[in-house]
Amino acid sequence: MKILVINCGSSSLKFQLIDSETEEVFAKGLCERIGMDGSQIVYTPAGGEKQTTVSPMPDHTEAVRLVLAALTDAKTGVIKDLSEIDAVGHRLVHGGEKFSASTLINDEVIAAITECNDLAPLHNPANLIGIAACQKLMPTTPQAGVFDTAFHQTMPEKAYLYGIPYEYYQKYKIRRYGFHGTSHSYVSKRCAAIAGKDIKDMKIIVCHLGNGASVSAVQGGKCVDTSMGLTPLEGLIMGTRSGDIDPAIIEFLAHKEGLSIDEIMTILNKKSGMLGLSTISSDSRDIEGASNEGKPEGKRTMEAFSYRVAKYIGAYAAAMNGVDAICFTAGIGENSATIRSMICNNYLGYLGVKLDEDANHKRGEEIAITTADSKTTVYVIPTNEELAIARETAALVK
Ligand code: ADP
Repeated sequence: MKILVINCGSSSLKFQLIDSETEEVFAKGLCERIGMDGSQIVYTPAGGEKQTTVSPMPDHTEAVRLVLAALTDAKTGVIKDLSEIDAVGHRLVHGGEKFSASTLINDEVIAAITECNDLAPLHNPANLIGIAACQKLMPTTPQAGVFDTAFHQTMPEKAYLYGIPYEYYQKYKIRRYGFHGTSHSYVSKRCAAIAGKDIKDMKIIVCHLGNGASVSAVQGGKCVDTSMGLTPLEGLIMGTRSGDIDPAIIEFLAHKEGLSIDEIMTILNKKSGMLGLSTISSDSRDIEGASNEGKPEGKRTMEAFSYRVAKYIGAYAAAMNGVDAICFTAGIGENSATIRSMICNNYLGYLGVKLDEDANHKRGEEIAITTADSKTTVYVIPTNEELAIARETAALVK
């Protein structure tokens, strides 16, 4: 089936047209600066040149219209007619407690997603605009929603409750939700497949280390804990997000610096993490470069980042009372041999992890990076959220 995967942000829209069976990507691209000056669409057909076209996009409907025009363009398009698109799969950020699986989109589903807007005020409204735009331009094409939170809905109460008055959970549903679920689900399944084991018999820890980063504990194929919380701010040190901090820091900073809650949240979301710690960059390549040059700002950031990941691995090995496999994925997890080595060699000896240095330096493939006698196997498994969304969508439409 040909599935158009849409990932709609407040001013951007990423897309891929994928064959859900063969995994072939026919075309992909990105609309940027929607609703602003200088909006442009970047479109890359498979095997073709990347094209960038500046074109006004006052709203997301216009962005979707341009995507469909690019896909059906007589010269560089990859389909003749929109009817070739069997379904649209939307990446949706927050499904709250309402969605524990992907779903076909109808009015009821849209109302339920809208009710989750409070939980993800930046993301959910943008996702809904993307759905509305596709419905307008492709009214007869089925649409599905694949939630970042859904995979984590299997967490037990003890993992998702915070130690705050229970009434706030009852009144506002304040709890751990977790994100990157599509990636954690995809990678844990691939891990079982590569290991040649039934996922039901496995205890897997997935480290999704990208700009946003999270760790999850997957026992018997089900998520039992994850490091992101009510929002994607909790857990690991990320590109620009702080991850875990003492909540009292917020009050302390407010008094010392005369900052409002909103200003502090902006600092924690956009100016912290690797960027804040290093003062250099949010990009791990820059941090690693600085560290290699012996700069203390690079070194301390690398160490704090990898230490936090190792602590979560330890916590989740405890939560599952053991671990069979640890998987690294996403930009940093897939590409940084140094960070993987810092985590495995400095902290995971007690799990019997023995890194295979040659394998650890390979790139771009699904691979075990531990030796044959390593008690716990560590894998690098490139994530593919778009393919996972396409498959979920195809399964719902069939
Ligand atoms: P997101 O999807 O959350 O925006 P990605 O999964 O693309 O993020 O990861 C981005 C991170 O991956 C950046 O910190 C970047 O430095 C890192 N990264 C990407 N390629 C490499 C590489 N070749 N070596 C080291 N780090 C890399």
